Amino acid sequence: MNIILLGPPGAGKGTQAQRLVANRGMVQLSTGDMLRAAVAKGTPVGQRAKEVMAAGELVSDAIVSALIGEHLDASRDKGAIFDGFPRTAHQAEALEMLLAERGRTLDHVIELVVDEEALVDRITGRSTCASCGAPYHDTFHVPKVAGTCDICGGHEFKRRPDDNEQTVRTRMAEYRAKTAPILPYYEEKGLVRRVDGMASVEEVAAAIDAILDG
Ligand SMILES: [Zn+2]
Repeated sequence: MNIILLGPPGAGKGTQAQRLVANRGMVQLSTGDMLRAAVAKGTPVGQRAKEVMAAGELVSDAIVSALIGEHLDASRDKGAIFDGFPRTAHQAEALEMLLAERGRTLDHVIELVVDEEALVDRITGRSTCASCGAPYHDTFHVPKVAGTCDICGGHEFKRRPDDNEQTVRTRMAEYRAKTAPILPYYEEKGLVRRVDGMASVEEVAAAIDAILDG
């Protein structure tokens, strides 16, 4: 079983990938991690990548493909989760070829879908008590007495600076720009499966399992 897992920040993609690795022995092939590891180990691909990056250029499709190929051979039949690759239709074709050369196929492209407005509400409403760290939310979990911590009675609340609407919207826009080139490609092949990323971690896990076992 080889899959691509897609999802914007806040959809819990990392948590779900970790679970698939732990429960099913799947191997997560994250382009960024593989590149850093190859450079650190000084593998032939890593050396090529290092030269390119030292020259301030982007690592080419050919280098990324070589890297994925190396790791696919290592992952054998445990199944792979592709993360951060492919980014373009051209790379999607390259991935198909890499898999075909090994007698493997891409089974599913699973997208964790979030509702942007709901995500903004969820993230921007978060605060914690400045004294004891108890978590609150403007809409979903307000203190019993306004402005007073239920746990310690404190009156000061903190918000994380990146828990703001602009950050959430920027991340969503980046995600859409990143996936826009490949989603139509996989839609056409009938490989895209959508899961409600706003559901609980357990519900999302169950939905992914149903797809993989279906
Ligand atoms: Zn408190």
